Amino acid sequence: MSLGQISKPTYYKALWHNCQSCHIHYMSEEPHIRAYLCDECWNRMPHFKVGKKEKEMKKEKKTEWSQLEWILYIWACLIVMAFTFGYMVLK
Ligand SMILES: [Zn+2]
Repeated sequence: MSLGQISKPTYYKALWHNCQSCHIHYMSEEPHIRAYLCDECWNRMPHFKVGKKEKEMKKEKKTEWSQLEWILYIWACLIVMAFTFGYMVLK
């Protein structure tokens, strides 16, 4: 086994991809997230901004629900604790 076989060249780890739109080379570790498009082409896509807005709206709704869930959760805990405590005292 020679040294050449063990050590790989440094550029082996760099993840270069061809842009699907303008065919320039760009570097990305997760090219599938941007549909194999370079940063410029991806930002030029109109759906990108719409998708972001939808995500933000969903996030806001989610926080509202989680707050309500917390209140319900605390209420449920208090009720269970009250019943448990009452049972222990009245027994
Ligand atoms: Zn491009």
